[in-house]
Amino acid sequence: MPDGALNLGTYRAFTARDIDAIPQLRGLSADARLRLRAVAQVLPFRVNAYVLEQLIDWSRVPDDPIYQLTIPQAEMLDDGDVSALVDLLRGGSEAELQARARAIQMAMNPHPAGQIDLNVPIEDGVERRGLQHKYRQTVLFFPAQGQTCHAYCTYCFRWAQFVGLEDLKFAAREAETLVDYLARHPEVTDVLFTGGDPLVMRTSVLRRYVEPLLRADLPNLAHIRFGTKALAYWPARFLTDPDADDLLRLFGEIQAAGKHVAVMAHYSHPRELATPAAAAALQRVREAGAVVRCQAPLIRRVNDDPAVWADLWRAQVRQGAVPYYMFIERDTGPKEYFKVPLARALQIYQGAYRQLSGLCRSVRGPSMSATPGKVVLDGVTELDNRRYFVLRMLQGRNPEWVGRLFFAEYDPDAAWLSDLRPAFGAREFFYSDELAELRRRRAGVRLSVISGAHVGDA
Ligand SMILES: *Cc1c(COP(=O)(O)O)cnc(C)c1O
Ligand code: SF4
Repeated sequence: MPDGALNLGTYRAFTARDIDAIPQLRGLSADARLRLRAVAQVLPFRVNAYVLEQLIDWSRVPDDPIYQLTIPQAEMLDDGDVSALVDLLRGGSEAELQARARAIQMAMNPHPAGQIDLNVPIEDGVERRGLQHKYRQTVLFFPAQGQTCHAYCTYCFRWAQFVGLEDLKFAAREAETLVDYLARHPEVTDVLFTGGDPLVMRTSVLRRYVEPLLRADLPNLAHIRFGTKALAYWPARFLTDPDADDLLRLFGEIQAAGKHVAVMAHYSHPRELATPAAAAALQRVREAGAVVRCQAPLIRRVNDDPAVWADLWRAQVRQGAVPYYMFIERDTGPKEYFKVPLARALQIYQGAYRQLSGLCRSVRGPSMSATPGKVVLDGVTELDNRRYFVLRMLQGRNPEWVGRLFFAEYDPDAAWLSDLRPAFGAREFFYSDELAELRRRRAGVRLSVISGAHVGDA
């Protein structure tokens, strides 16, 4: 990738290799730094000076939520794995170290919820790598150059993309693939640029993807979304970076072409909205006419507290943004470390929701992006002295599923859809047979293309 393509900040971005160069980490003991280095062999790690200087409260480390959000912790891996990695760092070969790290990664479910198996469209016998089309209206687009982030979140479900598990990388080389796909799919109204973070790309590079979309004059395309953590981790992207003004101009051009621009901002903690730079960046994006909708997962040790979410949604609305989704963390990576059981997630969600006026209640959650669709836990209900989870499909792989209510046995420890048992003695959930059929058909199609060329495969 050409160096000039990315805009990772005029400040230095630190990665796992430069743990000793991060001034703030010099306060850790040599032992803690060694363990950090060991964990970073497995879990990708990248942080920038803005996060280090303005977001992390170093007087509260290691419990500080932004520290937990960006710096991997020894407790995220098994003790045995950490000791083995530490030993290899002390006296093993690089090859042994890499092999051990890779084995641990592969045991961490690097690609949850059928992302490649089921979401990557296949047309004319060709897998359209770089696209995902799961819900009728919305296509996800993974520009090749947007497959990294300004900093990495330690719980990130995209972590496999950052550690070089190449097979798993979704990346489109060509904007043409996207235009062609949209022209052939009039049901699609939304394109969501995602990654990594598409706003790591310089605006000139982003334009190479966006301009063909506007030129193609696609009447079905109504909304262009950018999923980004830049408002939280790198507000300079909208303020002082050399191409910040051009990015805002690009947002204006999209609107001039008659399309809505949505910035899907990932804010995990109210502190990310509280710095002067964060407030100014959000203000500029809004002035450029984009609607900022906010989403984040619920993460133990980062934001597992109703007061934190109430503050977060309140701050978003006060600054003119729209609370959108609260997600349940996926079953991937260091899930055990971050996991919040569904029953607790519901208490946190409702505890926050009840404190706020209707303007903040545009949010939906807690929601699981699971294989059949986005499933929201709406509540717990009691029938004949038994408790049940009330679930609803917000988005479905089959559009007919959207809005369906269904029930599961209450289970205080369940943390994902796959942990739940259908209520009332049912053998399985309503979507189960159809999903199995879909998988079978899809497996057949994939077998027939497996030896074919992968267009746009990066
Ligand atoms: C969440 C999600 C979307 C967007 O869903 P909205 O409810 O429209 O925001 C699209 N595709 C996938 C795969 C998703 O997980
Ligand atoms: S910003 Fe998003 S994609 Fe990037 S590391 Fe964080 S969660 Fe992952």
